[in-house]
Amino acid sequence: MPELPEVETIRRQIVHHVQRQTIVSAHVTRDRAVRAHACPDEFVQRVVGRTIYTVCRRGKALLLPLDDGNSLLVRLGMSGRLLVADPHDPVAPHTHVVLMLANGKELRYVDPRTFGQVAIVEGHDPCSMGELGHYGPEPLDDAFTPEMLQQVLAGKQASIQAVLMDQRAIAGIGKIYADEACFLAGISPLRSAASLTPEEVVRLHAAIRDVLTRSIEARGTSSQDAAYRDAHDNTGDFQHQLYVYQRAGLPCRVCGMPVEYRPFQGRRIHFCPHCQR
Ligand SMILES: [Zn+2]
Repeated sequence: MPELPEVETIRRQIVHHVQRQTIVSAHVTRDRAVRAHACPDEFVQRVVGRTIYTVCRRGKALLLPLDDGNSLLVRLGMSGRLLVADPHDPVAPHTHVVLMLANGKELRYVDPRTFGQVAIVEGHDPCSMGELGHYGPEPLDDAFTPEMLQQVLAGKQASIQAVLMDQRAIAGIGKIYADEACFLAGISPLRSAASLTPEEVVRLHAAIRDVLTRSIEARGTSSQDAAYRDAHDNTGDFQHQLYVYQRAGLPCRVCGMPVEYRPFQGRRIHFCPHCQR
């Protein structure tokens, strides 16, 4: 599932192709991809003729503010992709929504499993949207300090892993970067969030920002199922830098002991029992 670095990669790749562009036509070939709307025609009528101001990201969602005061919300779900293409480029299987732009480019929404969706939502400010208003802080914002992380974790008896993946606590982190941030911080993901010492919170804060930043630089993680592709249909490169995620049984890159994989409270956790306490 695309997480913050993958979605941010797509945002950076598409923004200069779509900002200040008018949507001249739109096609929907799978109703489920626009299921927030009464029918695909309603979505098409609301989007055609609109100009896209820019491309923003909130957590794992992309938000394209439009000139009528609404926004185009794109959620990639488990397997969604957003591609910038030329009209003559081959159309990938499972392409459900195509927006033709005034500059001749196409924005294509592709999603084999269609857990994601594209929708017109009211307003430009994600904080006031029903869809995104409950999201927690953005971990790469300057405002996200160790003190803020301390507040997020305080009093929570759930595991650190569960809190990191809770979008209401922190926006944008899923199983890949929860596993990796805990490893980099040397903290067992099985511990309760409230059990972290102030020094461990500082380490975890630094680890979260470090892993997300480096993954964006590597255009995200394409894990074993290779579902994630960037906006140019290329895989990311960060999977080569992972320490524990999907490395079960392989030697830890630090201590050489096998990386462990354990189902825990309905989640699947990768960690090194030797390096993480
Ligand atoms: Zn280790």
